[in-house]
Parts: sequence; structure tokens; C-alpha cells
Amino acid sequence: MTTSRPPLSYDVFVAPSKPFTAPPPRIGDPQAWDPVTSTLIFGARDAVLVDALTTIREATALADWVELHERQLTTIYITHGHPDHFLGLPVMLDRFPHARAVATAGTVEQMGQQTTPEALNHGERASYPGQIVDTIALAEPLDAGHFELEGRPLEVIETGHTDGVDTTSLHVPDLDLIVSGDVVYNHCHMYVGATTAESRGEWIAALDQLAALNPAAVVTGHKDPTQGNPPTVLAESRDYIEYYGQLREQALPHQELFDAMVSRYPDWVSRQQFLLLGITGSASDPPGHPLIPPDR
Ligand SMILES: [Zn+2]
Repeated sequence: MTTSRPPLSYDVFVAPSKPFTAPPPRIGDPQAWDPVTSTLIFGARDAVLVDALTTIREATALADWVELHERQLTTIYITHGHPDHFLGLPVMLDRFPHARAVATAGTVEQMGQQTTPEALNHGERASYPGQIVDTIALAEPLDAGHFELEGRPLEVIETGHTDGVDTTSLHVPDLDLIVSGDVVYNHCHMYVGATTAESRGEWIAALDQLAALNPAAVVTGHKDPTQGNPPTVLAESRDYIEYYGQLREQALPHQELFDAMVSRYPDWVSRQQFLLLGITGSASDPPGHPLIPPDR
């Protein structure tokens, strides 16, 4: 006689797009950060949260939402070292003191590098005054490529250099689910502005690596909140990066490059110069200011 185990479930919290303090952009929409997700995977008793959002306000709302699920939060997994996905961690750890924050060694290294006092003072503390925690929390490095939720495996997929370096996704075989972090985007303009031909190639290889797992659902780190979580986002992100690469090879002026992407993806959210062009410059910068790093 076999005993059937209750299935795992998942639920997704999307923090909406938020304006940030910055001079008016030279190109595109008024500056606002793209919507960011956090995913709760849960069994009968326990839960694992993937990523922890950015601001105190977001993390407080996330903690309330996690509590509604009435599970014991055992683990918070951080997919990659970009601060928009983990600055809310201290708020979560205060509310869930039994939870352990974990990430790959590469992500933990990036988390530290991206949150030096200087980086934060020029970055998130300036962008979101009063909304970034005083004391940053990092994750502990995992000593294996997987961990468990109620005896079920959650597998870390190391995806290398995608929209940042040493990125990962989390695969949940029981759910045929991938929680992709920023390796995949869902109807949201992608952070391609800082890519090179080489890094775009690595990013596409990572998307192929995830597609080979044949998931039934993919939750992306940034998404249009009106969208579901279909696996078609893998092919869409691949197409986006390929098309962007073709345009970059033509060395178009910034405005033309930007307009070409927006016209190919007219329904995608976050028409931001920092995403598409990798620039944070304002309309008051001198014209011809070098903005995009050259392809290697
Ligand atoms: Zn991100």
C-alpha cells in the first residue's frame, strides 16, 4: 500500500511598477522600476519563498501575503545578486525568524558586491528614500545544487551570465515549474542594455537550458502583472534578445534602437531607457555622452 503525498502548490506575488527618484529620462517613459515577483512554493505544512523584493513597503506586504498561506516558511531562496530581488530580506527574516535565506555561492558573492554602502547610496537609497532597510542581509551559500520542501527536491539551475552574472533559476520537478529569476522576462522589456554579443549568447544558451526541462509554467522575476505564467515566455525572451542583438549590430542611434524594440513589442511594460539602452542618463546630459558599452 502506498501513501499518497499531498501535492505542492505555488502562488505568485507581484509588486507593481514603482517610480524612482531620478532626473527625467532622455528616452522612454518616466523612470519607474519594472514589476518584481516573489513566488511561494508550499506543501501541507511548509513553504519556500523565492526572492524577497526591494523596498520595506513591498517586503512588509509580501510578509503579510505569505502569512495568509498559513504555512511555516522554512527557506527563502534568492535567485541572483541584483538588489531589487533581495533588499527586502531583513523584513522577511524579522517576520519569519525560523526561515533560512540561501543562495548559490556565486549569488552570495554578487549580493555582497552589489550592496556596498557606496553602491547603495548611489543606487537604491537614492532611488527610494526611506524605503531601503538600514542593515542589509545576505543569504547563506548552499552546499548542494538542491534543497527540499517536505521531502520534495527543489533544484538550482546555474544559468551563468544572463541579465547579471552568476544568475540562477529554481526548478520544481513536482510542479513542472521553473521560477526563473531574471533569466526570463514576461511581457516586460528586458535588461539588455548592458549586454554584449558574448553575454547575449550566454543568455540565449541559458534560455535553451531551461526550455530543455520542458516546464509547464515559468514564473519570471519581472512580469506584466496581467499575464499568467506560461512556458512560452522562454521562446519570447529568446526572440527578444536575438532581435535586440541584430539591432545592436547595426549600431543604431539610441532613439532608433529604442523605438524599434518598442514597436516590435508594443504591449510590453516598462519602456525604460535603463533596461533597453543601459543608460541612467538624463535629458540634461551632454549630447553624445557615451552610454552603451561596446560589444566585445
Ligand atoms: Zn531584476
